[in-house]
Amino acid sequence: MYQFRCGHQECFSQYTASDKDALMQQVEDHLKEAHNVDKATETLMSYLEQTCVTTR
Ligand SMILES: [Zn+2]
Repeated sequence: MYQFRCGHQECFSQYTASDKDALMQQVEDHLKEAHNVDKATETLMSYLEQTCVTTR
């Protein structure tokens, strides 16, 4: 399982998915809805993947 924990200040959203791509899609939607990020760049997504995603 892949787990994402939003690192944004005062945002404690968590998502889990069995597939990393599916998880990152959820993250992208979350960024749009919660953080007004209209276009999540590849740089941002890979940064978040490295810093906020854990596997277990
Ligand atoms: Zn968040």
